[in-house]
Amino acid sequence: MEEVIRSITDPEMLTQIERVVPFHGYLSTGVFVGIQIYNIARRALGFSEGERLFVTCETSSCMPDAFQVLGGCTIGNKGLRIENLGKMAATISRRAPRDAETVNGIRIVLDPAKTATYPRLHSWYMNIDKVPHEEAISDLIRAEEGVYTWEMVNLNVPEKPEKRIAVCHFCGESFVLQGDERSCKSCAERSKSDIEIGSAGIR
Ligand SMILES: [Zn+2]
Repeated sequence: MEEVIRSITDPEMLTQIERVVPFHGYLSTGVFVGIQIYNIARRALGFSEGERLFVTCETSSCMPDAFQVLGGCTIGNKGLRIENLGKMAATISRRAPRDAETVNGIRIVLDPAKTATYPRLHSWYMNIDKVPHEEAISDLIRAEEGVYTWEMVNLNVPEKPEKRIAVCHFCGESFVLQGDERSCKSCAERSKSDIEIGSAGIR
């Protein structure tokens, strides 16, 4: 892998790799795709380092870690959302202006019609063959942004719902209400499965 990394001439990307690798554990192809997607978004949307960002990753594997480190998008700060569609794609936006209902974003996808030009990368992507990360990443370095397709998108800014707390009358623990339910979700699910087990027992 060192040899592959040495072929990168962009000093900024080398710094990004240095930051992401200790967090993710190693340089995987998916995390490298995340770095490249982050860089395309940064150029297209013109955000600066440290600016509040929002990303929806369409996979839970590898790629989100690049956004956690480089974009400061985490589950806890609501900057990171995973919509696991099993796709190597992400939609990125900056913070919406105050009172705006929509915000400009960009959806970027690793495009199989374009990776087809790079046999090792394509084999990794389509899972045709077990391809070592070194080889797939080496293709990504050569291809640069040429294997991605993107479009600008208009995203709805989610409304912030009023937060209401209740105490579950089964377990006595407090929880955030979704509607007008009287028990927490775990107790509701437990009593539901008790009923199912109970009625199965009758038969
Ligand atoms: Zn409960």
